[in-house]
Amino acid sequence: MRLPANSTDSQRVLILAPLGRDGKLIRGELETAGFQAEICATVQDLCAEMERSAGCALIAEEALKADAVALLSEAVARQPPWSDFPLLIMTWTGPTSAGSKTRLSTIAPLGNVSLLDRPMRPVTLVSAMLAALRARARQYQLRDHLTRLKTSEQALRESEARFRFLSELAEATRSATKPEAVTEVVARCLGEHLHASRCAYATVDPETHDFEILHDFTQPGLPSSVGHYRLPEFGTYSHDALRAGRTLVLRDVAREVPPGDGHESFESLRIGALICCPLIKGGKLVALMAVHQSEPRNWTHDEIELVQEVVERCWAYIERERLMVELAGNLEKLHRTNRDLSRVNRELEEFAYVASHDLQEPLRMVKIYTQLILNEIDRTDHTVDHYADFVQQGANRMEELIRDLLSFSRAVHSESPTVGVADLGESLSEAISVLKSRITENAATIRFGPLPRVSGDTRQLAHVFQNLISNSVKYRKTTQAPAIDIRSSLADGRWTIAVTDNGIGFEPVYAERIFGLFKRLHKDEYPGTGLGLAICQRIVERYGGQMWAEGEPGKGSTFYFTLPAAAAA
Ligand code: ADP
Repeated sequence: MRLPANSTDSQRVLILAPLGRDGKLIRGELETAGFQAEICATVQDLCAEMERSAGCALIAEEALKADAVALLSEAVARQPPWSDFPLLIMTWTGPTSAGSKTRLSTIAPLGNVSLLDRPMRPVTLVSAMLAALRARARQYQLRDHLTRLKTSEQALRESEARFRFLSELAEATRSATKPEAVTEVVARCLGEHLHASRCAYATVDPETHDFEILHDFTQPGLPSSVGHYRLPEFGTYSHDALRAGRTLVLRDVAREVPPGDGHESFESLRIGALICCPLIKGGKLVALMAVHQSEPRNWTHDEIELVQEVVERCWAYIERERLMVELAGNLEKLHRTNRDLSRVNRELEEFAYVASHDLQEPLRMVKIYTQLILNEIDRTDHTVDHYADFVQQGANRMEELIRDLLSFSRAVHSESPTVGVADLGESLSEAISVLKSRITENAATIRFGPLPRVSGDTRQLAHVFQNLISNSVKYRKTTQAPAIDIRSSLADGRWTIAVTDNGIGFEPVYAERIFGLFKRLHKDEYPGTGLGLAICQRIVERYGGQMWAEGEPGKGSTFYFTLPAAAAA
């Protein structure tokens, strides 16, 4: 049944009066009273108008022949459940005959029937009409409510189905570990959910736009589309849309794709309608996901949106998986490089240890025999004396290098250091007593407060203090006696020790570099091997600490190291 376009439809009064004069009279009166009245020539017309939409019917009893009553009762029976169509019967004017009685008794059970006796005053007609039309208007209101209710029920059902589908899809893709498995699951779920004839996934060659359908979900009876194809062969319109990254929607391929420009390719795959989503990567078309229907299909907006949403999720998943695989590969590479580096490091450390250790003996021999030779030769010759000095200096320098290299190797060599409680006060005393004569010679002063007990080894940490103090004395200013200040502070279970001097300092950019092996900023003016700070840093790191430095040329330097407090160790 057609719905009325507006509320005036529910105000239409249909008149059925076999005597044309009566009908016109009644219509005239009704129109004067402001009603919209229409005369129906036959009972068939009246029934047809009733089905269209109307407010009520005003019928003269003489129009109700037996066949008319039958037609009317069928029309009433065909009315929708919300409708209770008002029928107003104007009774026969003469004395009530047996025929009239039967007619009225057959029509009465039809439903909303009112009898209006003739002759009838116009005011009676108007009031009866108003009551009937008001009741009818209510029925139309009820119908509108019901329609709205149905629409929202439908929307609810659709969104429920969509939600169920998306969660089922999420569940199905969760168990799929490889991208191919995911596209397969997506194609199946999408095809089934949309009752599509086919759903296919293809990878596209970004340069030639040849594509390979890797797998497809097909309804029974439809051939699989798996295989190799050329996208331009599916017509200019489709090709242009997809390579521009637009979703291609065809509702009736036969009408929308012209012969000679793609029609045949769609036909060979028995595609009557389709939604095809492209995947663009780096500006190039690389994959397609398409839902096919073998017959034309009027895809709804919701269906198109759903396909787009699902395919976008699918692309995102594939991209994430690809990145994960790449990441896993990179991680593996990193692990391998790390393992190689640790091995090379270990080998180098072992080599440094063995070399420095084994070099000591031959060097001792060189020194002894050089001395013996020097005792035998004529030292009054200047040149010989000069060369002899070189030999001795060289041997001494080599001895110094080997000694420091050996200390460095020892600092890094042993696998796990013995971590105990180190008394930094004791470490410092030991360092000062070793350096006693140098401190006195340089008139150096050392100020320090109470020093803590930390996690480490007292003797090894004495070595750290010894290196730092001897550097402060070595890199002193010529104009000022060395003044060294040692302080400690505790934060978050870690002690920080700061050794500050008033020496020549250094450029802040070199603060990291000076901890490197053999790295020296003041090479020629000062003796040394460039290993002292590297050794200190390795010792501190072995006990779980860190070491760094700050300095400014001409203003002195501060060397810091941290170590876990003894209680926390
Ligand atoms: P070395 O003293 O044998 O050269 P180190 O490893 O102890 O080697 O120190 C590396 C470099 O750091 C030194 O050559 C020097 O340039 C710089 N340095 C170390 N301590 C100080 C300091 N207290 N003041 C200024 N520069 C320093």
